[in-house]
Amino acid sequence: MDLSDIFIYDTSLAFAGEILIRCVIMYLMIILFLRLTGKRGVRQLSIFEVAIILALGSIAGDPMFTDDIPLIQAVIVMSVITVMYRLTTWLMMKYQWFEDLLEGKALYIVEEGELVLDKIKKGSMSHDEFFAEMRQQNTEHLGQIRTALLETDGTFSILFYPNNQVKYGLPLFPKACHIVTEVQPDVLYACIYCGNTRTLSHAKQQCERCDDCDWTVAINTTRIG
Ligand SMILES: [Zn+2]
Repeated sequence: MDLSDIFIYDTSLAFAGEILIRCVIMYLMIILFLRLTGKRGVRQLSIFEVAIILALGSIAGDPMFTDDIPLIQAVIVMSVITVMYRLTTWLMMKYQWFEDLLEGKALYIVEEGELVLDKIKKGSMSHDEFFAEMRQQNTEHLGQIRTALLETDGTFSILFYPNNQVKYGLPLFPKACHIVTEVQPDVLYACIYCGNTRTLSHAKQQCERCDDCDWTVAINTTRIG
């Protein structure tokens, strides 16, 4: 093994210069084509858009340093991909079923302070992840949330109850959430799996919504003040 093989091999100074020019041109092409897709930014991409970005990236990479790939070939491929992308987004705007097919649908995760169970059991995301998302949006317990929606790009949209309508709900911060071993008759408890909130006659009572039987004391703190 020869170190110069690894680092230099048969690269001439002239070809190094060519790589420089190829990279500058392809860099400008990538920016131009990303602009042509019509996307404003890359902060929240759907899976489908990530695929387009990856495709453009790999098409742009090889001609930067492969001496027998003329740049025009890469430009043709990028043009075709970009036109296909624009056509697809146009179809998605025009036909709802096509958009649902490619991007999926937004899912209701919380309704009226309780988790929507059939969505969780499908297993697209664990409920720890949901709880983490809600905590990051300053939610102390599920009773503060009227509706939470998981958008197709993976972000959460949350609608909160006004302070005077906040319900008792499942605490989302670990220190406030302890599985109870004894219950008192006039206290509200929340199912730690689904957020179902009710009074209990004994600590291992089965939840009628999810069949779980671990409970914690429900809280009803408001969001501000
Ligand atoms: Zn439950």
